[in-house]
Amino acid sequence: MIRKTKIIATIGPATSSKEMLKKIIQRGVNVCRLNFSHLEHDVAKEIISNIKEINQELHMHTAILADLQGPKIRVGIFEKPIKLKKGEEVIFSTKRKKNTIYISYINFAKDVSEKDKVLLDDGKLALEVISTNKKDTVVLKVIFGGLLQSKKGVNLPNTKISLPCLTKKDKEDLAFVLSEKIEWVGLSFVRSANDVKILKRIIDKQKLHHKVIAKIEKPEAINDIDAIIEAADAIMVARGDLGVEVPSHKVPVYQKMIVEKCITQGKPVIIATQMLESMTENPTATRAEVNDVANSVIDGADAVMLSGETSIGSHPLKVVDTMRKIIRDVEKSDHNISKNRINKAVINDERLLTNAICSHACDIAKSTGAKAIITVTYSGFNTIKMSSYRPSAFIYAFTNNHTILNTLSLVWGVRGFYYDRGTTTDQTIKETKEILRDGNFLKKGDLVVNLASMPAQEKGMTNMMKLSKVK
Ligand code: PEP
Repeated sequence: MIRKTKIIATIGPATSSKEMLKKIIQRGVNVCRLNFSHLEHDVAKEIISNIKEINQELHMHTAILADLQGPKIRVGIFEKPIKLKKGEEVIFSTKRKKNTIYISYINFAKDVSEKDKVLLDDGKLALEVISTNKKDTVVLKVIFGGLLQSKKGVNLPNTKISLPCLTKKDKEDLAFVLSEKIEWVGLSFVRSANDVKILKRIIDKQKLHHKVIAKIEKPEAINDIDAIIEAADAIMVARGDLGVEVPSHKVPVYQKMIVEKCITQGKPVIIATQMLESMTENPTATRAEVNDVANSVIDGADAVMLSGETSIGSHPLKVVDTMRKIIRDVEKSDHNISKNRINKAVINDERLLTNAICSHACDIAKSTGAKAIITVTYSGFNTIKMSSYRPSAFIYAFTNNHTILNTLSLVWGVRGFYYDRGTTTDQTIKETKEILRDGNFLKKGDLVVNLASMPAQEKGMTNMMKLSKVK
């Protein structure tokens, strides 16, 4: 294991064959993202089954992230692109009418007010509302013009949007996702913690364990960020839409704020979008992109994500190689998060024992130069907690639950192993060390910290730590 920061790759035509999936996984992809904005269920089903087969063939635990589209607003389909000229007036309508531009948001005319901004195609074109009939038609003035292509996205940064977080399409996609063995579900355009709770309630009701990633891409989410982090299982800084919904110069500071809060609260955090964007076409990345990935690793993100670079790009293998090498060089340097992080995770009453043991395990591993922290986990909680302290030692998680093993592939510094033997704590500690030694992850004489719950049969909260040498 040579990396702690994980790589997420979005799967699309460039990577969806079994052969390509195998190659990107072998080159370092830990999580495959299926973007339901652009995916039919039968295609998704085949990709999922290929990933499961590859996991079995390679003895790997690649996770799957199903990303729901959410209330994404789009313009309609045109015969040819429409040229919007600065200063001219255009009409948007929620009905498909001649000489108007169709918009998919049914309450558009009701929800917008005079002077609201309407941004098209990731903010490349900007319009301003002049008037609305509050029914179905809005007159707008072009502020920044350009060519508008069919189905481009619309962002309304000043408008309070009255669409639910889960649309009809999302509910259909969710039913499919919940019927599949998928570990993570991405919820787009989250505006409040309640949006996350609604999705979690649907999953809980079906007694399923899919974990929810809240995508932060709206100003309202920034305002409710603490409660959203608490409600979600993980967070994605979705910089594509976020950089349109808020002025893009605000995104770097928001990104750092969110990463810091997530690490402190023990929730995995992903940095997404335009990380190596130019490699969608070019064989090399720009210096600025390389710096962007490196800085996300320095900040301590759990995972960095590739979007179009791997889904439709011309160099999907090269882009994974580039990301892996950037991560490796930062982690080898004095800028790695373990070296620089001052341990300040919250020790609260609810999980006092686990939190306290993990915090001290991190300190002990650092001061003794221990090579591994070994966890035994049933829900993954203690391992995610351990990771949030960003220890210098690698975290090796042992569990008899395949879903948890896959889930942990997203989490910083963790490598999972299937293990279903240990009936006593002594036996588990002895065997897990032997497995790591025999697999060349550790060698004789290495110091190891084992975390466990005693008595083992109760499968309770982590309440003990042992420091010992590998024999
Ligand atoms: C984003 O906007 O950055 C993002 C990840 O969302 P999507 O790719 O689903 O638009």
